[in-house]
Amino acid sequence: MLKVGVLALQGSVSEHIDMLSRIEGVCPVEVKTSEQISEVDALILPGGESTTMGKLLVAFDLQSSLKKRIIDGMPVWGTCAGMILLASKLLPEAQTHLAVMDICVKRNAYGSQAGSFETTALIPSISPQPIPLAFIRAPYIESVGEQVEILCKIDNNIVAARENNMLATSFHPEVTDDDSVHRYFVGMIGKS
Ligand code: GLN
Repeated sequence: MLKVGVLALQGSVSEHIDMLSRIEGVCPVEVKTSEQISEVDALILPGGESTTMGKLLVAFDLQSSLKKRIIDGMPVWGTCAGMILLASKLLPEAQTHLAVMDICVKRNAYGSQAGSFETTALIPSISPQPIPLAFIRAPYIESVGEQVEILCKIDNNIVAARENNMLATSFHPEVTDDDSVHRYFVGMIGKS
């Protein structure tokens, strides 16, 4: 069984656990300690509030062990606030983040609550069918480094990208009924 963790400090944890439990061969686990970080085969950084999550990473002394595992190649997927944590550069730049992925991310890029919306898009690397995309006070990626593959753009803004073992999405597949991004992420294990 592949142990796929969801960082469970704050945010939409149970929705990711439910999605992962649909995938055969995957054992989903909530992750709260450095020891648990060292035991998983891959980790999801969920959506929520990135400033709070950044503070909790520092308060629970998880920042360096998490960063080290990602740099050593553990597959990681940041959804929304999780994507903000992965980014090397933030607009505005005023909070703790892991700074591991070569992307520049604009927070609350669609405005606040009113900026939440749903759409669908075809993301050929992820699914042969269009999938539903749910944006909740979402960031988007302003620019990417050379090693980063852009997976999806909506209205010319980058909303999904991959750099080796790191996947980032502005949107929340875990609140839809479609598990193809979760399956794509599990497929990254052992290949990065
Ligand atoms: N706006 C939030 C932040 O900046 C992210 C929202 C989300 O994860 N749904 O952290």
